[in-house]
Amino acid sequence: MKNNMNWNFDNSYSRLSDAFKEHIEPIAVKNPELVLMNEDLVTELNLDFSKINKNELAALFTGNILPKGSNSIAQAYAGHQFGHFTMLGDGRAVLIGEHLTKNNKRYDIQFKGSGKTAFSRNGDGRAALGPMLREYIISEAMHHLNIPSTRSLAVAKTGEEIMRETPLQGAILTRVASSHIRVGTFQYVAARNKKDELEILLNYVIKRHYPELINSKNKALDLLNVLIDKQIDLVVNWMRVGFIHGVMNTDNMTISGETIDYGPCAFMDTYDPKTVFSSIDKVGRYAYCNQPAITKWNLSRFAECLIPLIDENEDKAIKSATELIETFGKKYEEKWLKMMRKKLGLLGEDNKDKFLIVDLLTWMHQNKVDYTNTFCHLMNIKIEKDGNYKDSNFQQWKKRWQERLEINENSPEKNMKLMRSVNPLVIPRNHKIEEALEAAEKDNFKSVNQLNEILKKPYSQQKNILKYQISSNLNENYQTFCGT
Ligand code: AMP
Ligand code: MG
Repeated sequence: MKNNMNWNFDNSYSRLSDAFKEHIEPIAVKNPELVLMNEDLVTELNLDFSKINKNELAALFTGNILPKGSNSIAQAYAGHQFGHFTMLGDGRAVLIGEHLTKNNKRYDIQFKGSGKTAFSRNGDGRAALGPMLREYIISEAMHHLNIPSTRSLAVAKTGEEIMRETPLQGAILTRVASSHIRVGTFQYVAARNKKDELEILLNYVIKRHYPELINSKNKALDLLNVLIDKQIDLVVNWMRVGFIHGVMNTDNMTISGETIDYGPCAFMDTYDPKTVFSSIDKVGRYAYCNQPAITKWNLSRFAECLIPLIDENEDKAIKSATELIETFGKKYEEKWLKMMRKKLGLLGEDNKDKFLIVDLLTWMHQNKVDYTNTFCHLMNIKIEKDGNYKDSNFQQWKKRWQERLEINENSPEKNMKLMRSVNPLVIPRNHKIEEALEAAEKDNFKSVNQLNEILKKPYSQQKNILKYQISSNLNENYQTFCGT
């Protein structure tokens, strides 16, 4: 296809060892139809589709035609899924290439749902419309919540049915990521027991994501250290907005520190640390409150891959890696406290802050109140009936909070500004997502588009958003599925 869309591909990953991927093109689909296009992201990527007609666009975003300069591959990776190690890979996705923006920022462009690959195992390589729209909505919402995330450029229907429990409409999501390299990518290469391949991957990752480490004396150890910080920042952000990823397998943890793979994820309404939405997570391995511990567990699996590169002497390497992993707890606690202080508008530090924070969370849990809306209440934003907040325990807590707000040269303006910068007024509520997806199934994309618009400004007071703010009544029995 003629390149008059400003695509600027430079496919560095596909030039690495053949061991890391399979060359494969998307499998053509019957009747492509573009249903969502992220115009803001098109602009951010310096792309231009203005001269392309509708049919060509649909063909482009289903992979029926590939842009000039692309070179599509399925990436190999492994992963611990619910604790069990498996060889995996892109079983229903292809990376069509890496696009460079005018500022030389590099983005992976991936089609998810594009057909079978060498890694499909028993799957059909396809994806259904609902889960692809869900990923679009939530990944974009995360981005606008200022949380690192893969982005969504487009969703196109394939015009083919796919068989799940019932027949569903097939669709392809165009995913944009700073890369798709995962902890699982390192696990895959490490399992092949070839140190030179591991070194290639390490150097590639450093050059692409952490160039500040190029001259490091111990690149592997320093990368581990950086990733510990990155992943703590990420999970603290998830905890901040009540996001539950749902399937924190090591293949779903990126080396870039972006949130990836929006399968059974969902936002918590009523505050309960044990909240789990995923239908397959029977024991709550990936429950809200377990996310930090799982992050540490996944980082330990990452550290194991790096052992041969940390030190020739294995015992020494293990000791150094373990020491770093053991910094996780203290670092997490500090970053979490800092984040929670902001949620409460607390400037500076006071040694009783942790009690103040934990007491509020305990009250929220005991009284089954909405997590997001409680912080809105503290910011004087009225959403639901105030009944819960008349509770005397809450009023006593509020008095302590107000006393604390007055120390450390605070001012009501400063407190409020801080709170407004971290407490969203609107999140992708489960009932709003379900409602939008149901309409989209019947070819009505109005609700999906409206929801996406509202979620672009989660920290702003927008007109007529009350219905997007009220707690889901689906909460107690709400279940999500892997979207496969
Ligand atoms: P996920 O749960 O999306 O992170 O996927 C886990 C693994 O299963 C990945 O290797 C996917 O590529 C693979 N997979 C998921 N769905 C399909 C499908 N429909 N066909 C083939 N492979 C799939
Ligand atoms: Mg995955």
